[in-house]
Amino acid sequence: MASPRILSKSSYLNGLQCPRYIWIQFHEPERIPETDPVTQYIFDQGHEVGYLAKDLFPGGIEVPQDSFVGNIERTKELLEERKPLFEAGVLAGKLYSRVDILFPVGEGEWAICEVKSSTSVKDVHINDVTFQRYCCTRSGLGIRNCYLALINNHYVRNGEIDPKGLFNIYDVSGEVEAASVAIQDKIDGILEVINRATCPEMIIGPHCRDPYECPLTDCWEHLPEHNVFSLYWSGKKSFTMYNSGITTIGEITGDFKLNAKQLIQQASVVTGKPHVDKEAIREFLSSLEYPLYFLDFETIAPAIPLFNGVRPYQNIPFQFSLHFVRDERSQPVHHSYLASGSADPRPALLVELQKVLGTSGSIVAYNKGFEEGCLREMAAAFSEYSDWIDRVCQRLVDLLEPFRNFYYYHPVQKGSASLKAVMPAITGKGYDDLDISDGQVASAAFLAATYGEMPEADRVKVRNDLEQYCGRDTEGMVWIVARLRELSVQEVKNA
Ligand code: SF4
Repeated sequence: MASPRILSKSSYLNGLQCPRYIWIQFHEPERIPETDPVTQYIFDQGHEVGYLAKDLFPGGIEVPQDSFVGNIERTKELLEERKPLFEAGVLAGKLYSRVDILFPVGEGEWAICEVKSSTSVKDVHINDVTFQRYCCTRSGLGIRNCYLALINNHYVRNGEIDPKGLFNIYDVSGEVEAASVAIQDKIDGILEVINRATCPEMIIGPHCRDPYECPLTDCWEHLPEHNVFSLYWSGKKSFTMYNSGITTIGEITGDFKLNAKQLIQQASVVTGKPHVDKEAIREFLSSLEYPLYFLDFETIAPAIPLFNGVRPYQNIPFQFSLHFVRDERSQPVHHSYLASGSADPRPALLVELQKVLGTSGSIVAYNKGFEEGCLREMAAAFSEYSDWIDRVCQRLVDLLEPFRNFYYYHPVQKGSASLKAVMPAITGKGYDDLDISDGQVASAAFLAATYGEMPEADRVKVRNDLEQYCGRDTEGMVWIVARLRELSVQEVKNA
């Protein structure tokens, strides 16, 4: 392939992450999967955040972006005006950068402000701005300072969004200066990779997920089932094992010390049988007090708070599913709530929840810290509910406990104690028949159906899918407790 005409900022960042990734991006882009809905939502949110940040620079000029060349040419003209420029396009030889906000400082100099929906400064942000500054400098612009505008997660909305409160501005000029030292070498290295005729070989490593999850999955496809990357909570140790020639969990030897849970997983993989600590399961079950209320929330957590009194990224429940089981012989009864309309969903959700949660009996959640966190934040926002929520929280029982503690472990869980892994393992039923089968997808779908433009038929379908998904979570919890109880009964029979 001929030398690329330009290297953009995003290509530079991808090239820093992995040579193979950038080569495929240039030579075989059709191999890169389409953006999934959750990633698309994150991108869209980033655009909204970027739009709001422009209010920090009154009098700024939006540089038209309808054409690549037009954007660059118009930027050159507008630089004469010495005003903040939004989406300024800068071309320097083969390097191209579009700067979120370029604003004049001092006598003829400029500053860069890059807007991110993140709440803290990360290395990838510094690399991002470093490339922009290099591009600007090489095109003849004097850059005095570099800033990041990041989300201030202590900001609380009160009326219209106040951009001065929503953003924290960080002067990262020093970090960018330090990161600039070898930038031309890095650019040359990336260009050399892009110009190769064949795709570079790369071994999988932590870089596959850092700074971003690489969308290419074929590099992992050679791994057998129960490979070391599915070892429970092993982190980067899995790469150490893999690089030393150990591929499967069964092959792990004493050179790598496994903890008690990992040893259970290994034994389970080797035998192909589940591990069942019946005594511990029975003890857990004895902590459940009937009637049982199986509860699950779905939430949204946008970077830009939608409602007064809410912080960026604060979880706002918009839906609950509740399965009620009166006693061991009773069939479950289902209750649910799914917000409609664009108002804050929490007041109506609390009214409905209070109607169905009763006053006694265990409230069973999977990873109860999440449900408790949502409830406590609602108590803080709606103080008339705080005493009731206090009592509700005291009734919470965590169904994650038997699985996080490996009282039960099945090899098909592949090192995960999440509900999505546990439910199929212990009950044989899962989410395959549902169109929404993941909390992040549910959140993005609710936001799109509630606050976006969508044909009515699609909106109805999304709401139906949401009901089914959240309902499956709590129905699944009912099945799991029933199965645990069966195991506990078997213990009595076997005893
Ligand atoms: S999966 Fe990893 S090794 Fe493969 S292209 Fe992506 S970052 Fe590179």
